[in-house]
Amino acid sequence: MKKDGKTEQAAQWLREAQHAIAFTGAGISANSGIPTFRGEGGIWKEVDPNYFNIDFFNKKPLVTWKIIKKVFYDQMTHAQPNLAHFILSIMEQQGMIKTVITQNIDHLHQDAGSKNVLELHGTYKRLICTRCNTEYDYRFADLNFLPPTCFVCRGVLKPDFVFFNEKLPATTKQQAFDEIDKTDLVLIVGTRAEVFPANSLLEKARENNARIIEINLDATEVTRQLTDLFIQGDATNVMKQLCLQLTCSNQCKCDEREKGITGSDIP
Ligand code: NAD
Ligand code: ZN
Repeated sequence: MKKDGKTEQAAQWLREAQHAIAFTGAGISANSGIPTFRGEGGIWKEVDPNYFNIDFFNKKPLVTWKIIKKVFYDQMTHAQPNLAHFILSIMEQQGMIKTVITQNIDHLHQDAGSKNVLELHGTYKRLICTRCNTEYDYRFADLNFLPPTCFVCRGVLKPDFVFFNEKLPATTKQQAFDEIDKTDLVLIVGTRAEVFPANSLLEKARENNARIIEINLDATEVTRQLTDLFIQGDATNVMKQLCLQLTCSNQCKCDEREKGITGSDIP
């Protein structure tokens, strides 16, 4: 990343903000080994998105489950948070970020220690019965036998993340809009934010005159229409630069984490 004063500017705005929030998508988890949907190596290059339509799933759950298991469960269950997730969680501990609104379903923000996380699109960790709505931790189901079924009523279990043509969790969506109404700074990391409600949330933030900082590999529609400060680059690298600009009291242990020493190795 070029030294062009942008991370200094971003750090300054974060210091000035009263209620900053992070807004994340698939790009923040790319360095954890989870592919994004679009772009180079994206999931849609391999898989037809129509399999993730709720109507298709309801008709042919076994077909969709075989794909879901391969592209999501086989990867997400082994993925570890990366430096960008950890730095956001430290920023929350330091009161610099109040909430993370994420479109991700991979639970890596919580795994990194973030407490206040709004999962707009749900999570892979929970399964829900399509017949009686009983909820399960995914580890209760044996995904070697697909589709998984409900212990109560034998209905098919569905991952509790949002499929195409399916409604978003209403409470979470409302909480996200409430957060946007409070925020004076949105730090976008790794998303095109093309779909509803991501796009509407950011438009609302703009209307409310919140500052918008965007970290993405490439410019997006958001860059062109809403962003005040675009920092082009890899989420992990940029977040590390930002952390260094902020306190970096080394509470985040940036260097050790970057060398791959994580979790319990770090006091
Ligand atoms: P997307 O695939 O449309 O776009 C990814 C964005 O991340 C792009 O702007 C790209 O430039 C950027 N990016 C890629 N690698 C990056 C990196 N290393 N550093 C910084 N930026 C990087 O993803 P999206 O906009 O988040 O699309 C939303 C949908 O994708 C959501 O529905 C979400 O549930 C789903 N999704 C989630 C996961 C996950 O949970 N990890 C993975 C794939 C898709
Ligand atoms: Zn059931």
